[in-house]
Parts: sequence; structure tokens; C-alpha cells
Amino acid sequence: MNPTSASNPLLEPWATPYGLPPFDAVQAEDFMPAFEIAMREHRQELDAIAACAAAPDFDNTAAAFDRSGRLLARLAGLFFNLAASETSPALQSAERELAPLLAAHDSAIYCNAGLFARFEVLHAQRESAPWTDEQRRMVERLHLDFVRAGARLAPEAGRRHAELKQRLATLQTRFGQNVLADEAAYRLELRGEADLAGLPAFVRAAGRAAARERGSDADAVITLSRSHIVPFLTFSERRDLREQAWRAWTTRGEHDGEHDNRPVAAEILALRNELACLHGHASYADFALADTMAGNQDAVARLLDRVWSPALARAGAELEALRGVQLAHGQAHAIEPWDWRYLAEKVRQSRFCLDEAQIKPFFPLERMVDALFECAARLFGLRFVEQPQVRAYHPDVKVYEVQDAASGRLVGVFLHDNFARASKRSGAWMSSYREQSRHGGGVLPIVVNNNNFARGAPGEPTLLSFDDARTLFHEFGHGLHGLLSDVTYERLAGTSVLRDFVELPSQIFEHWLEDPGVLARHARHVETGEAIPADLVRRLLEARTFNQGYETVRYAASALVDMAAHARCDGGAPDITALEREVVERIGLPPAIGMNHRLAHFQHLFAGSGYAAGYYVYLWAEVLDADGFDAFVEAGDPFDPDVAARLRRFIYAAGNSVEPGAAFRAFRGRDPALEPMLLKRGLLEAAPG
Ligand SMILES: [Zn+2]
Repeated sequence: MNPTSASNPLLEPWATPYGLPPFDAVQAEDFMPAFEIAMREHRQELDAIAACAAAPDFDNTAAAFDRSGRLLARLAGLFFNLAASETSPALQSAERELAPLLAAHDSAIYCNAGLFARFEVLHAQRESAPWTDEQRRMVERLHLDFVRAGARLAPEAGRRHAELKQRLATLQTRFGQNVLADEAAYRLELRGEADLAGLPAFVRAAGRAAARERGSDADAVITLSRSHIVPFLTFSERRDLREQAWRAWTTRGEHDGEHDNRPVAAEILALRNELACLHGHASYADFALADTMAGNQDAVARLLDRVWSPALARAGAELEALRGVQLAHGQAHAIEPWDWRYLAEKVRQSRFCLDEAQIKPFFPLERMVDALFECAARLFGLRFVEQPQVRAYHPDVKVYEVQDAASGRLVGVFLHDNFARASKRSGAWMSSYREQSRHGGGVLPIVVNNNNFARGAPGEPTLLSFDDARTLFHEFGHGLHGLLSDVTYERLAGTSVLRDFVELPSQIFEHWLEDPGVLARHARHVETGEAIPADLVRRLLEARTFNQGYETVRYAASALVDMAAHARCDGGAPDITALEREVVERIGLPPAIGMNHRLAHFQHLFAGSGYAAGYYVYLWAEVLDADGFDAFVEAGDPFDPDVAARLRRFIYAAGNSVEPGAAFRAFRGRDPALEPMLLKRGLLEAAPG
């Protein structure tokens, strides 16, 4: 069947609750013809703006540009969310076909000389024009979008720029699909008590569920999903199986054959370098960082340097403690990366009397979702109302109306997709089906949070680790950034901020999980309903800085490898294995820690360009979130209404309508201080007194 526009539900108005996509009616083969029509329609709209007889002004150029491409935005919102959360061979094939077409479409927009000429006129007027601050910001951002997309390049360079963008889009799509293929292909089947040794009940239950889902008759299946592999590495007494699982996990994308990501990553690096050179930068890192809060490589290097030495020293002390445990068990082998989590858990249990198997019953997923909603209610006056009659793209997904509790006004729609599936990308992320704006009387955001929690057995609740609960809060913080967005123009909405600011709303939200009041109300035992004992909370919070040497080293090592890979000034395709090894040796990464994110599966860097030369952003944002949360500490109340109102206005609602440094200062009253981040990670002793 070859659907025409007349029979293609993607092209018809969506008469659905909230304008959600008509998920049931969507067929993968409808996407390509719909995208072709939507791209053509968008180009016609843009040509009309460029051809406008009137002199350029804000409304006929900047606002008109922002209003254009509605059909395409609606399609892309649906398509890329499905491709990430509920993919299929047909969608993957469409994704491969689409990636270069969309890149070419983008290039055509930003190489539209007539359009750019109008933005040049607006940009020249930005100081004197009678615009609002948001409009001025909008013109600056849109103009910069054009410049960074190659609008100022000479024709020959412009053509090459467009070619590079298309090829990069193809390669980045392939990179992500290759990782998914390796993840889907692997399973560690556990049979009998000998294979299951050391695994607590919740790991066994998750493994049983995974075995059933995959039609395996094994007692448990361990997949390469983080929520399977990390608990397995933490608890399994079978060192040989831990090694096997670790090697499978850290060699994703690195196998000879059709899913080998090494040549893909190498070509991506070479092409990014060429792209940066077209813009007059020596390296892709210089190009990428020019439009960030950090601004340049030096600022990133200073931050990473500041944590590296204390983290390494702390990791050294942690390694000594692991050796102590090892010796107590009569073992003397070298500690390898597949041993660290296992031994660290033993230290943690003995030092803090924290047993993961005793903690998890206090963190049922449903209760933790209640905790999210309560925090959003107390901080921002939001109410989340489940709409069980509204179906999304998978039965697991819950749909909520997000209301302003005081007025009952609808604020947006929230989709919560919490469980791991074979058809879903690994990791956890927030995304949007629709962005907020005030176009046409107002557009409400539709936001989704994806997690990959291992589901409880049928009839059994899903229990989270404290780390899982932190991920839940993190993604919900991103979700609120999308939902609370309150700007006029879509270009500036929600999470469309500079990328070293984007993790602030998510990471600051994690702090409320650690609030003893929140824990006392929501961390309740799944069977008895008993509130988590205060003593257990105290030990959980004391343990926050435990193993932070390891965590900081492993994170910073990945950030340093990322910077090194993108700071190369030589245009050739590098041997990524050698490149990684050189960095690891230069920085002195302890072999017992090892690289968790190897380049061949480092999706942050290569499945898209958003975090390329940008893995540092989590630490950058942590400086902002640790210092930012201190505003509540100083006010003496984690829900202080005045601080919460400033947080909402300047951080969650402002999107990209305000320069991020100014937004932080408006919230905090000053520039961020570094020390709270170091203290939080236990890398700085608290000042006495
Ligand atoms: Zn995040």
C-alpha cells in the first residue's frame, strides 16, 4: 500500500485528547510520505517569508519563522519519540532514510540567502529596536542559528557544510542503531543457584522477568540495560560472570562486522573537525564550546582539573578499603573494573549498614512517583491527574494532565514511560512531543519521561534502588523544565537552552529526593507501609559521598576523553581505540576503575551532536545545582515559597529567553560558587564550625 495524503493519518488534523498523536492509527510506512509533504510545506512557508515585500520587522520575519513548520514539528515530535521509545525494524529503516533528508532540509533553511538577509537586517537593529527583552534575545539566537549553520559561508564552503551535516546525520543514526543491535543481541543466561550466587531477590526477580519477556527458559537473564547490569556487577559472587558481563557491557559497538561503531565514530570525528574548520575554528571542541556558558576549552579544563586530583586521591583511598575487604575474604588477585562495584558494596554495607536488598522495599516506583508529584505541587503548585482512558504508544505509558492546582488551568500533558523494553533505547531521558509557546492563543507542552527500570515480576511492585529513584527525579526535573516553560516563542521554550545549563533543572530536582521529610512521607515499605526508619535515612544520606572518588574519576575520565577526541586539530579519521588509550594513560586512570563509557558506544557523543565536546556539562551544571539548592538551605526550608518562586521564574520557566548567567544571577542573587559541588562530592572538607 502506498498511502496518499488523503489516507495518511499523520497529515490529517489530530482529533485526539490534547492533540496527542493518534498512536493506534500510525503506521511506520506513513512517515516518509508525510515527512516529504511537511518539509515541502515548510520550505514554501519560509520562501514566503523571504519573499515578503515589506521591510523585515520582528513579526514578519522572526515570529513568522518561529510559527512556520508546524506540520513538520508535529511529525518530528512523534517520529523521534517513537524511534527512541518503541522502535521497530520499519521505524529504524525510516530513521536511516530520513536522517540525511532532514539534515538537507535544515541546510536548505539556513542557506536560504533571502531569509538570512532579513535576519541580518533585524540583527543590525537589535540595540535600537523597540522590542521586548525576549524578542531581542530571539533575534540574537535565530541569527546565531543561521551563522552556526553556515549561512555566512561562501557558496562552495556552504555546499560542503550541507554535505557534512547530511553525512553526519546518517552516521549518528547508524551509531545509535548499532549500539541497540549489540544490546538486543546479548543476554547472560543464569541457570541454577551457582549462577545466581549473591544476587538479592530483586535482581533475581528482574532477571526472571527479563527471561520471560525474551522467551528464555533460564532462571534469570541479565541484559545490557543499566538497571540489570549495574546490580549484577554489584552483587554477583561469580567473578567469572561479572567479568563476562562487564566485557559485554564495555565492548558494545566494538565488534567486527556490520554493527562495528569504530569506523563510524572515527568518520564522525573527522567530519566534525572539517565542519569546525569551515567556521574558522581549529577544532570541533572550539566550535561547540563557542556557544555555551563555559565559552572555551580552558574553562572546561579548569573545572575538570579542579576535581581530577582530589577525586583520584579519594579513589586511591577507596581502593585501599576494597583491598581490605578482599583480604578479609582471603583473595589476593588484582582488583579489576568488574570487581569494584562488588567490593564497594561490601564496604558500604559494613560501613553504613546499608543493604540494597533492605533499602529497595522502601522505594516502590509508585510511591516515588507520588513523591515527584508532591514536590512539584509544593514547589510550583502543580497537580498531576492520571488519565487512564487516554492511550499512548505502549500500555506501560501513563498519561497525566498537568494542572495549575489553584486555578485548575491546564498547564500541559505528561507521559511517564518507566520500564525497560527491547524496543527502547537504553538510558533515561526527557523529550517533548510538543513545545510550549504562545502562538495562536497558546500551545501547551506535551512532555515525556523515559526510564529503563527493571519491572517487577507479574503482580509484584517495581522496586527502585536509591540511584534509580535519583534518575526518576532527574528526568522529572527535565520534564518540569518543559512543562513550566512560559515564553512567547518556541525557539526559546523549555529545554532549548545552552547545553551546559540544561542539566540544572534536572540535577537540582534530585535534591528533593534527599529531603528527610519527602523520604519520611513517601519512602514506605512496600509490604508493611512503614515509613523508612530515620536511622536508615541518616545512613543513606551519610553514604552520599561514599565511592564518590570512583564516580568522579569515572565521569571525569569520560569527559576528558570526549574533550580530547573533539579537540584534535588534525583532520584525519583517528583510531578511536588508540585515542582513548592515550588519554587514559596520560590522565592516569586507575586500571581498577576502567572506562565505563567506551567511545564505540558513547551515545552522548556520537548518536547525536548535542553532547559532543559536551559531556562535561553535568559537572558544570552540578556547580549550578549544588549552589542553587543552597538557596533553600539558607532559607531554612526546602520548599521556601520565595526561593521556589524565583527558581520557577528564572530557571524552570524562562527557557532560553534570558542569557543563562543572568538567569542564574536573577535566581541566586550572585554568580555560582564552586565549593558546594566539591562538598557534595566529598572532595572538599567542610569548613569547621
Ligand atoms: Zn539530564
